[in-house]
Amino acid sequence: MHYIDRVIEQVKAKDPHEAEFIQAVTEVLSSLKPVIDADSRYEEAAILERIVEPERTITFRVPWVDDAGKVHVNRAYRVQYNSCLGPYKGGLRLHPSVNLSIIKFLGFEQVFKNSLTTLPLGAGKGGADFDPKGKSDGEVMRFCQNFMSELFRHISADTDVPAGDIGTGAREIGYMFGQYRKIRNVWEGVLTGKGLSYGGSLARTEATGYGLVYFVNEHLKSNDDGFDGKTVAVSGSGNVAIYATEKVQTLGGKVVTLSDSGGWIYDPAGIKLDLVKDIKEVKRGRISEYADQVAGAEYHEGRGVWSANCDIALPCATQNELLLDDAKQLVANGCKIVAEGANMPTTIEATELLIANGVAFCPGKASNAGGVATSGLEMSQNSGRISWEFEEVDARLQGIMRNIYREVSQASTEFGEPGNFVVGANIAGFRRVTNAMMAQGVV
Ligand code: NDP
Repeated sequence: MHYIDRVIEQVKAKDPHEAEFIQAVTEVLSSLKPVIDADSRYEEAAILERIVEPERTITFRVPWVDDAGKVHVNRAYRVQYNSCLGPYKGGLRLHPSVNLSIIKFLGFEQVFKNSLTTLPLGAGKGGADFDPKGKSDGEVMRFCQNFMSELFRHISADTDVPAGDIGTGAREIGYMFGQYRKIRNVWEGVLTGKGLSYGGSLARTEATGYGLVYFVNEHLKSNDDGFDGKTVAVSGSGNVAIYATEKVQTLGGKVVTLSDSGGWIYDPAGIKLDLVKDIKEVKRGRISEYADQVAGAEYHEGRGVWSANCDIALPCATQNELLLDDAKQLVANGCKIVAEGANMPTTIEATELLIANGVAFCPGKASNAGGVATSGLEMSQNSGRISWEFEEVDARLQGIMRNIYREVSQASTEFGEPGNFVVGANIAGFRRVTNAMMAQGVV
């Protein structure tokens, strides 16, 4: 059996119930064959066995008291995946679906993504099965404080620097940072995504969505094209979806859909983003409220966002939200580019169908790397006790996304599959991180 298949089988045997983790490992490892076959040292050094195994996995309970005085207990995780390029770095997800499989798949993807940024960032991921939706500010604060009362032992500005993710925005990061500073009696850049008044970076809020659109724009430019006049379908209506929509609109494209876990909206005239920001960022409401307020806009319950006609699709909600049938529908409707804002939103079968039909498919570990890259820039500003202007951070973000696009394209060509960004991203990310692992010995 080929070395790669053997390691995939080992992962399946060891963690048979971790479906998302197995999916991510299978997707990445399956694309590494040319690079593994070209150098026997990878197998001799057991690089694949080491890269699939987190350096450390921490699980802990988080008890907290609701407004009525009732005690609740959530389960929390921090998976410190790989630190050979820098301190562990990756977000904290607060969502009822969170389990070890999901956190491990996200941490594993983060290894390659952070490597692609070329910044000094290791990889990790964490979170809890706590749902901030429908909770009062007081309840969220008490949860975040107790979450940090355990997590603080395992993190620091030089060890592990968590950030936001689904359910963890500026409010949650603020509560966690306050608790860390209090118990450690130290002010340091231990979290990114902080508020601007206490060490946050300008353009961090926008970075993942903007970076996604910069990446796609590089691809369009390489074909003498641009966003002008393009129709774009976006899923989700959280941080990534909102700022991807904003940048598409700035570049002349028209976004016609958004969604949340309840359903999706279609506005043929183009999404009115000020209204979406008011509903989602200010009132913490549901995307269905948009259709109540905009003449000509439709709301559909459930899945179906990928049935809208579009030139470009940007899945920006969650994992496994673009399935095989959705991919078929996108191809039938003439969609030419699918770029992932979310982590692993496209299933393996859907990805294969898109690529086989000539759709330019941009995997999240490359196209959504702008978020973590700008978190890296926030860390640099915190260590230097300085703060850069919005334009400076945005220009660095654009430069980083341009470099990632070039590197991914070049790697895909070098390994005989030009334009296959899945192969390009996995190989380019793999090479940098494993060079560092080899240089640092068996540790
Ligand atoms: P938010 O919490 O801000 O928004 C998430 C959005 O996705 C919401 O609209 C939410 O709807 C929707 N959603 C979540 N779960 C589901 C589900 N099971 N089915 C349908 N819709 C769902 O998160 P972000 O925008 O920050 O993150 C979105 C994705 O981008 C995630 O995959 C994340 O890992 C990835 N990402 C985020 C980065 C960042 O900087 N924030 C960086 C890189 C990747 P609802 O409100 O109904 O739950």
